[in-house]
Amino acid sequence: MNAAKPFWERPIDTLNREEWEALCDGCGQCCLHKVEDADTGEIYHTNVACKLLNLKTAQCSDYPRRHKFVPDCLKLTPKTAGNLAWLPPSCAYRLRADGEPLPEWHYLVCGDREAVHAAGISVAGKVISETVAGPLENHIVWPYGDDEDAEEYLEPEGPAPWESK
Ligand code: SF4
Repeated sequence: MNAAKPFWERPIDTLNREEWEALCDGCGQCCLHKVEDADTGEIYHTNVACKLLNLKTAQCSDYPRRHKFVPDCLKLTPKTAGNLAWLPPSCAYRLRADGEPLPEWHYLVCGDREAVHAAGISVAGKVISETVAGPLENHIVWPYGDDEDAEEYLEPEGPAPWESK
């Protein structure tokens, strides 16, 4: 039964490597730095991107060798994808780990690689590089809110995490 489904509708632990990589919508949100409050454990999001992120396209400029330059770049797996609270609610890996469908702007659904940008989900053109940012604490833009906020963000018109409310 599962074999008849498109791979992005199958359980994520059944995907092969190629299918797993293809699940990424290319938003670039996971490539933004976060700041953790040491006392409360709360995660704050910044508009500061990893030095490898192409700020115009929201793509990693050296994805195959990224761990050589950024050793702590996290490798998402079917086991970790559902347990990372800092992943954006729109992240394809997080959605599929939770058994949720991909949004209509995901390129696998609509066939348009540009739709993630048009929907306001990607960080392309909206963030700065860590090479020029200075202290991350000066660039906090969005603490993740409650579930209501997450639902709002999944709407194309919803606020992006790097936009101040
Ligand atoms: S947040 Fe998720 S969908 Fe967006 S670039 Fe990162 S891994 Fe891909």
